[in-house]
Amino acid sequence: MALKDKSLFRQAAPVGGKWIEATAGPGLDVVNPATGAVLGRVPQLGAGEAREAIEAAKRAMEPWSERTAKERSGLLRRWFELIMANKDDLAEILTLEQGKPLTEAAGEITYGASFVEWFAEETRRIYGDIIPGHQKDKRILVMKQPIGVVAAITPWNFPNAMITRKVAPALGAGCGVVLKPASQTPFSAIALAVLAERAGIPLELFSVITGPAREIGGEMTANSLVRKVTFTGSTEIGAELMRQSAATIKKMGLELGGNAPFVVFDDADLDAAVEGTLISKFRNNGQTCVCANRIYVQDSVFEAYSAKLCKAIAELKVGDGMEPGVVLGPLIDKAAVEKVEEHIADARSLGANLMLGGARHERGGTFFQPTVLTDVTADMLIAREETFGPVAPLFRFTDEADVIRQANDTEFGLASYFYASDLSRVFRVAEALEYGMVGVNTGLISTAEAPFGGVKASGLGREGSRYGMEEFLELKYVCLSV
Ligand code: ADP
Repeated sequence: MALKDKSLFRQAAPVGGKWIEATAGPGLDVVNPATGAVLGRVPQLGAGEAREAIEAAKRAMEPWSERTAKERSGLLRRWFELIMANKDDLAEILTLEQGKPLTEAAGEITYGASFVEWFAEETRRIYGDIIPGHQKDKRILVMKQPIGVVAAITPWNFPNAMITRKVAPALGAGCGVVLKPASQTPFSAIALAVLAERAGIPLELFSVITGPAREIGGEMTANSLVRKVTFTGSTEIGAELMRQSAATIKKMGLELGGNAPFVVFDDADLDAAVEGTLISKFRNNGQTCVCANRIYVQDSVFEAYSAKLCKAIAELKVGDGMEPGVVLGPLIDKAAVEKVEEHIADARSLGANLMLGGARHERGGTFFQPTVLTDVTADMLIAREETFGPVAPLFRFTDEADVIRQANDTEFGLASYFYASDLSRVFRVAEALEYGMVGVNTGLISTAEAPFGGVKASGLGREGSRYGMEEFLELKYVCLSV
């Protein structure tokens, strides 16, 4: 590792105000998915440490929430500046533990930092309300107060940004946070904590608990001090966390799976649609919850679009994310490769045709060839589940009503995309898609300014934007008799 600041790669976790070294007890190895080599070790912590961290966060919250909004905002701003100043090192740590190409990792650091910057700004605008009273002598006040201790559980596909999108608004609102990062990518989380401490954010306010998910999640959901659980991951685990949280009535923020449709209408700019497909489908090697999972192309442009798409995909370089020019890194692990293979085999057995790729890459390990399938239909596994890999399945459709029906025919409702130029069609389709987010003539929609989130089995709540701050606040109604 060629870090400029070696202290950012720390084999220790901050728990309730102190650092626990990996060497102090049992540890967990973290592996570089591109090489299979062990990158380092983090401590194996459990329910006890989670409890300790939750109690410390609760104690630290009080003085923290009493600080002025300007003070909290200033510390978040300082954290943002430190993240940006250390962008190259953070990107390298991210690529080494996650696999995405270095330039893409650097993009994630900037994106992740943008949430810290945004919520530093929003912290100063947590406004309440004064509502005209219902009686002559009454005044109605609405105050916004921090919800309480926040438990955050994050995935491996965005080891930096999924953390900042939760932790920054929680801290801005005046809460303390206990985070369980994905076991595959804890070093990015730990580096963020190092920088938060360096920025002057009290260490007890932000703990990182590395260790077995079920045990740590069990404590987070059972502990009545935790008032909000914010989770990004699979629908299955989201539902489990919701069930576990029922007894203590916690507020849930859930960013779960997607099954994004990507529709190319006959009036689309096909070159733009191909470019949008590459971004939406192949970013992070297809391993994002907003990745296009089903690509619907109108009959009359099917041949032209698929030919252009295959040509563009064939040029994407596969390799170790540390090598220059690489666009597609390895998949995260063996299970991810097996899921991709299963989806391709199932589709082919039911009549899909392979236009490109379709097999493991010659580099071995968890590298996979970018793949295009045609003649894909609704009965195939790939149409119903998130593939989370570099496979573009192409469906055909005849008209608008037909494709809207197909696009909405899923339990999920996170991101959706379509390419069209007719303005009336743009409005009609954007309104008809049952999704939390719609990209029109763009394959990239995530940004700190906009509310990210899904409907149906894709989750609850929104992250980013001014709505993202509300998720960490409670309303208090004060009735004043004058
Ligand atoms: P992914 O496919 O992205 O790994 P998961 O939903 O399995 O999706 O994991 C997302 C996050 O949830 C990870 O940090 C993982 O460790 C954590 N997790 C998995 N199972 C549980 C559980 N039973 N309780 C709490 N957290 C869990």
